[in-house]
Amino acid sequence: MLRVAVVGCGPGGVYSVGALVQHGDVAVDVLDRVPSPFGLVRYGVAPDHPKIQSISGALEKVLEHPAVRFLGNVEVGTHLRLDDLHRHYDGLIFANGASLDRRLSIPGEDLPGSTSATDFVSWYSGHPDTPAGRFSLDARRVAVIGMGNVALDVTRILAKSHDELRTTDLPDHVLQALAVSRVEDIHLIGRRGPAQARFTTKELRELGELAHADVLLDPHDLDMDEATAQRVADDAALRRNIDVLREWSTRSPGGRERRVHVRFMLRPVEILGDTHVTGLRLERTRLDANGNAVGTGEQSTLDTQLVLRSVGYRGLALAGMPFDTATGVIPNVGGRVLRDGGVAMGEYVAGWIKRGPTGVIGTNKHDANETVAALLADAPTLPRAPVRDPDAVLRLLHDRGVDVVTWEGWRAIQRTEARLGQAQGRARAKLADRESLLRAANEGVGHA
Ligand SMILES: Cc1cc2nc3c(=O)[nH]c(=O)nc-3n(C[C@H](O)[C@H](O)[C@H](O)COP(=O)(O)OP(=O)(O)OC[C@H]3O[C@@H](n4cnc5c(N)ncnc54)[C@H](O)[C@@H]3O)c2cc1C
Repeated sequence: MLRVAVVGCGPGGVYSVGALVQHGDVAVDVLDRVPSPFGLVRYGVAPDHPKIQSISGALEKVLEHPAVRFLGNVEVGTHLRLDDLHRHYDGLIFANGASLDRRLSIPGEDLPGSTSATDFVSWYSGHPDTPAGRFSLDARRVAVIGMGNVALDVTRILAKSHDELRTTDLPDHVLQALAVSRVEDIHLIGRRGPAQARFTTKELRELGELAHADVLLDPHDLDMDEATAQRVADDAALRRNIDVLREWSTRSPGGRERRVHVRFMLRPVEILGDTHVTGLRLERTRLDANGNAVGTGEQSTLDTQLVLRSVGYRGLALAGMPFDTATGVIPNVGGRVLRDGGVAMGEYVAGWIKRGPTGVIGTNKHDANETVAALLADAPTLPRAPVRDPDAVLRLLHDRGVDVVTWEGWRAIQRTEARLGQAQGRARAKLADRESLLRAANEGVGHA
């Protein structure tokens, strides 16, 4: 039987596990550095999108297969090195995602009050690496830089009232911060125009339906040249987005407590402040012949106390693994890792670390199928790992002092989160720090 380790239990990892157990005579360990499974489905998907969150139900079924073990709270590169993995597993699939954010690379970017949308998402999602006190929401004006769905998620969460979110699974400390939020104005800022924005229409529409926030847009921001107008006319999805934006541009402020200002063709050039963000210097842009935003020299200053950049993600290099710093992925051909110009024996990739941070959750399934097909095709010729005892890796982790969370432990975490939530009239409330997660996992094991 082939022994495979999957590094990362997000959609890329779980879909790989699914394909492996469906087609192969395999035993699979899926390792994740956090105590819980599901990657960005748990720590990315917005809390007010329960239908998308519920995809975790389908992922859960895959992980319940008897040939699969979930080993949470195990970090590859720290608790297990690459050579450890090769000693215990015949095949390795890296599905460790793309957890780093891209930067703006402008002065002032490291001032307190300037951070990534990733950081904010991790905070409201209760990621155990993000301290509870990371955000206090005492900024009155917030700038969100970026024109994709993550920027929309962040804007929407900032614009919603505590009441609208209190039935979600947000951790308690996040709900408390939202209850006393002082946010009044959120500026959603894009370097390019509406025809270049990467929103999906459903998510865009949602922003215009907020109960407690007016969405405002200057009609001049929708001006476009003839070629762009033609492109919009020819592209149904783009046309739908522009229709939504056009309708917003006809709205007048309705006196709601909060305002979302959608602003195109502006690029941040400097984040201002001495000890904390106090403003953002912006420059009006135009598009060059290649569709890139270039500054026009016309500058303005926005009074803001919190700047959240949402301009993309990139992968993180894993010790011992090849990494393409230009694209932020592990170089591969059809999922087979490339090392020194050739295919590496027994090493594969799936998900965002394979193809870059694009696509929806389902995109990772097709991509994982391709990877697993390559692994299973190679299986007859893969050298077998020297250690065949499945418990040997558990002993190694134990000896290294790692508190491994098993599937049973995860089930115990779920029960604790459900209990916590139900006491407050919601389905669950997330535990947000590693200590509580591990305590729940350990206390609950054997007490189902
Ligand atoms: C904020 C946000 C919101 C999103 N919302 C939606 C949405 O609403 N709908 C939708 O379809 N798509 C959404 N997406 C996209 C979707 O989440 C991704 O397509 C998907 O999660 C990518 O899967 P992945 O497995 O490659 O990465 P991830 O989901 O990031 O999973 C990677 C896993 O690897 C683990 N890991 C990393 N390093 C190590 C290591 N060294 N050792 C062990 N484990 C490690 C991580 O802890 C993580 O669990 C969203 C993305 C973001 C960023």
